[in-house]
Amino acid sequence: MSLYNMEDFKKKCKVFGIDLSEVQIEKFMDYYKLLIEWNSFMNLTAITDFEEVVLKHFVDSLAVCQMKEFFDIIKFSEGKSNVGDGNAFLENKQVSLIDVGTGAGFPGIPLKIIYPDLKVTLLDSLNKRIKFLNTIIDELNLKNAETIHGRAEDFAKQQSYREQYDFCVSRAVANLSTLTELCLPFVKVEGYFISYKSEKLKEELSAGEKAIKILGGKIERQEEYLLPDTDIKRSLLMIRKVNDTPKKYPRKAGTPAKEPIS
Ligand code: SAM
Repeated sequence: MSLYNMEDFKKKCKVFGIDLSEVQIEKFMDYYKLLIEWNSFMNLTAITDFEEVVLKHFVDSLAVCQMKEFFDIIKFSEGKSNVGDGNAFLENKQVSLIDVGTGAGFPGIPLKIIYPDLKVTLLDSLNKRIKFLNTIIDELNLKNAETIHGRAEDFAKQQSYREQYDFCVSRAVANLSTLTELCLPFVKVEGYFISYKSEKLKEELSAGEKAIKILGGKIERQEEYLLPDTDIKRSLLMIRKVNDTPKKYPRKAGTPAKEPIS
């Protein structure tokens, strides 16, 4: 189908339990081509080599699929599993996910390609990236995917976004304390905020634990792993929302980064 090594991409996805279909492979190829095309006139990614984009953007974004809680809830919503039977959180619903500070769409777009039934919101404060994402949504024919141009601090205050999502994900946006203030307000009680981190998670955790508690979260799980076939370390932190986020959070735009809860 192409000059690119799709077998290697498939193999890497398999490590996280994903069997890529031909349709999904085509969508990833279109995404790659548009990413490179738009990157020639706007700053979307420093990584452009195909194999590197596959590993550090596509496969890295999909690492969350290895987390049982994420997988079970998504699969339940697709009617392929009976996990969670009788759980009000899972009944009669389409699972929703918001990607805060999505940039060129990571991890939100790869997750949407893999789970087409997922209702995805991609939020970023840079409008030119939102324009790129709107093109991706159109060209890849992704249904139930929307973009929002704005700051997380502002949208998390709005009733139609606050505590509306089953999952919030975020990669490479801020330190854990700041990020939790930007992300947890979007999550429903019993939903999850999943933070993609490098190997430095432990250092951030000691500073972030207080913020997680104040904002209504509880650390559910930490996953440390290597990107497939490499020695690149990554971690995922899964925070379950156990209480409503107090109304005063997030504080006004810029404050969570300037004065992280500590
Ligand atoms: N998540 C993507 C990734 O992993 O490739 C992009 C990471 S990029 C380093 C950080 C992105 O977060 C930028 O696109 C920036 O505009 C966005 N961002 C930073 N602070 C934000 C905020 N308070 N609200 C919304 N977007 C924000």
